[in-house]
Amino acid sequence: MSDAELDYSSEYEDYQDDVEFDDDMADLTSEAGSVSDSGFSPFGTSTPASASAGGQGILSSASSSAAKGKGRASIGGEDLYGQVEYKVLSLKQLEEEQRRAIEYVEDMLKLKPESAATLLRYFNWKKEKLIEAYMEDAEVTLEKAGIREGGAQPRLKRVRGFVCDVCYDNETKETLALTCDHRFCKACYCHYLTSKIIDEGESRRIECMGKDCHVIVDEKTVELLVPPDILDRYRLLLNRTYVDDNPRMRWCPAPNCEFAVSCAVAPRSLDVTIPTVQCACGHIFCFGCQLDGDHRPCCCPIVKRWMKKCKDDSETSNWISANTKECTKCHSTIEKNGGCNHMTCKKCKWEFCWVCMGPWSEHGTSWYNCSRYEEKADNYKDAQSKSRAALERYLHYYNRFSNHEQSIRLEADLYVRTEKKMEELQEQSTLSWIEVQFLAKAVETLGKVRTVLKWTYAMAFYLEKNNFTQMFEDNQNDLEQAVESLSELLERPLEEDKIAELRQQTTDKTVYVAKRCKVLLDDTLRGYEEEPPRWIWQEPIKF
Ligand SMILES: [Zn+2]
Ligand SMILES: [Zn+2]
Ligand SMILES: [Zn+2]
Ligand SMILES: [Zn+2]
Ligand SMILES: [Zn+2]
Ligand SMILES: [Zn+2]
Repeated sequence: MSDAELDYSSEYEDYQDDVEFDDDMADLTSEAGSVSDSGFSPFGTSTPASASAGGQGILSSASSSAAKGKGRASIGGEDLYGQVEYKVLSLKQLEEEQRRAIEYVEDMLKLKPESAATLLRYFNWKKEKLIEAYMEDAEVTLEKAGIREGGAQPRLKRVRGFVCDVCYDNETKETLALTCDHRFCKACYCHYLTSKIIDEGESRRIECMGKDCHVIVDEKTVELLVPPDILDRYRLLLNRTYVDDNPRMRWCPAPNCEFAVSCAVAPRSLDVTIPTVQCACGHIFCFGCQLDGDHRPCCCPIVKRWMKKCKDDSETSNWISANTKECTKCHSTIEKNGGCNHMTCKKCKWEFCWVCMGPWSEHGTSWYNCSRYEEKADNYKDAQSKSRAALERYLHYYNRFSNHEQSIRLEADLYVRTEKKMEELQEQSTLSWIEVQFLAKAVETLGKVRTVLKWTYAMAFYLEKNNFTQMFEDNQNDLEQAVESLSELLERPLEEDKIAELRQQTTDKTVYVAKRCKVLLDDTLRGYEEEPPRWIWQEPIKF
């Protein structure tokens, strides 16, 4: 590990002492008073992965989490988005970080703050690299960064008889020269800067107007030359480069969100770490590839490949996403209106699985695996049967992938129904608002875990068939069954005399689902880090 990396990780230790943003049930109960004081809504503490695509901004959680400097969410007492160390930074905090870095370099190298800032921007804010280069050859380092030390700080000056090289005007008016002494009139500079800032979106690398001169126009000089609205834009762009130039920082991709996330994972291992982060605005995304939502345990390169395949094959697979299917017994049309896969035909009462259309009675038995693809025994001799087999295999995984996507969509209104259920529960029982949170927790967990399950099918599609893959699919099947059983429970109507039982069952199943999910995630992610890697892909994957 290089010095730069060591320094970075020590910065993170400052955040270790912060209070974490946990919202598990134990906390809810113990903080009952403070929670209700702040107008608490069970759906506001953390946005479920399934509903994050639109980037819902929840102000109360944004401010509380930003103040603590770290975004975290957890399920059933287990951290689901806490596997990587990251922090969420507001614009103010970003400015503060820059100011501190500038002061440090200014102090260390005895430079003007403007020069320190220009140097830092030139070195992408890598302090150690900057200082090393400066110590080796100060003159060359400054020259490369576009700084000429020694000259007077640029200021506006009226010079009698001066002719501007841009407009050839010789009227006596305000002019300015950078430390390189190339003088132009203020109006020309203003025009030039405005075009750089507004048209080109440039900020940190704007050079002197002189021919072949590379001296940088610093912030203090820009202040002298442009009107306030252009200056605001310039400052915004300049501030943005702090994040853009830093490989360990990203802007939150949610529309209109101004938070940035900084993550300690080394850029070279981003591909296999799958750092899922949650912004203070509630938006969940992958820090590595910036895709919306949580795509663990599938690594970024596989996700990219899978999404491309789904797009290319969308015509063949479109029928799968349909909301209606035919009963295999009586052929009447059956519509799916919930997330649960256990279907019962209204007409003939046949119970079957929506995904594989197989009899429901066999699901849950140890030998039946609805998620694994069983290769047909016959060997594919001709090209046609080979390609048919390949398509069948793809559709098997795509079917399960898209089924979870569909269930997540259908369960969006489970949130609304659950909130109603919670109100009913309060009226029918002696349970308090806090005590009925188990339902909200269950629905939230269901959405998060379905998202994880969804991606296990993309991963399984690319995995080579071996013992490790078999174990992965066993974990997947266990989680499927746990999710299915929780999903069924949540769709059941309330029975007044069975509320205590419902509460116990729901809580138990929620905790179990969260636990199974964590087992699958932890184990799969460990597989990426093993040497040699545990996961063998059917196609060569470049990391
Ligand atoms: Zn001019
Ligand atoms: Zn110049
Ligand atoms: Zn955000
Ligand atoms: Zn990713
Ligand atoms: Zn039927
Ligand atoms: Zn099935």
